[in-house]
Amino acid sequence: MLKPLFELHLHLDGSLRLDTMLDIARAEGVALPAMHKSGLYHALRCGQVRDSLPQYLEHFAHTTAVMQSQPALKRIAMELMEDLAADGVKYAEVRFMPSLHTARGISEDFVMGAVLDGLGEGGRRYGVRWGLIVCSMRHVDPEVTRRMIDLAIRYKSCGVVAVDLAGDDNLPAFEHAPHFLRARENGLHVTMHAAEEGPPERVMEAVERFGAERIGHGVKAIRDPRVMDFVKRHAIGIEACLTSNIQMRTAASYESHPALRYLCEGVLVSLNTDNRMLAGTTMQREFEIVRERWCLVEEDERQLLWNAIHTSFAPPDVKTELYNALVA
Ligand SMILES: [Zn+2]
Repeated sequence: MLKPLFELHLHLDGSLRLDTMLDIARAEGVALPAMHKSGLYHALRCGQVRDSLPQYLEHFAHTTAVMQSQPALKRIAMELMEDLAADGVKYAEVRFMPSLHTARGISEDFVMGAVLDGLGEGGRRYGVRWGLIVCSMRHVDPEVTRRMIDLAIRYKSCGVVAVDLAGDDNLPAFEHAPHFLRARENGLHVTMHAAEEGPPERVMEAVERFGAERIGHGVKAIRDPRVMDFVKRHAIGIEACLTSNIQMRTAASYESHPALRYLCEGVLVSLNTDNRMLAGTTMQREFEIVRERWCLVEEDERQLLWNAIHTSFAPPDVKTELYNALVA
């Protein structure tokens, strides 16, 4: 029997369906690089190695172009819940940056409402537990980050569990830190994209200066034994995204991906897709890959799933439910 799966690192704007992109583009008059499925699949290089970061960011510009109305946002969030259920995922933390969805004039509050509505309705219909993570990005004005954190705090009782800082982690972005500490003070959790492209010390900075409890990617942490020791001592969760890292050339292969070392050394590492559509992967597939390439035994697999539950931002009653599902 298939085990229940849990996903902690999942971007809404990289995880929509191609058919839905085309539907919305036609209905709302949005120009995409191709207006048929196979053309769009190739134009967005779904499941392919990317040539550069700017190219990848351009792909997100196309996905967010069809995520600018309330019906579109609600539909995409609901369909993600359906896709997660079909993939065997019982709990997911979905992340996105609300300010990227106001280009056609809807307010950030309406954006939040539409996404939360879609996750709520989809979650109930398809039996997936979820939490929402509000992102900001390192290169934006810290004032935008302040707004994103305010939104996250305001919608905490509606399903927002955490905040995240994404983007090019070669930038330290310390000017955003006070806003993240404010999120913690207001009862939200913090995760951060760090040591993906940037140096290993981004991990320590994320924890000590931004209050992060989990790290997105953390691929480069392995290069510095002090950072590895720090991650273990502070029980920091590492959200590994293998296929996505290989496509971005952050890791050379599945076999050499540091997540395997993290698992062997007792780091709280979990497996994630990052961007289901753009990476062309699913949680089932990520597990199939590591089962084969890492020669995992049953116990290792269970450990990866346990790590995901343990480092999730789910409330205690939901965590208990997830642990029960894992041992059932
Ligand atoms: Zn990410």
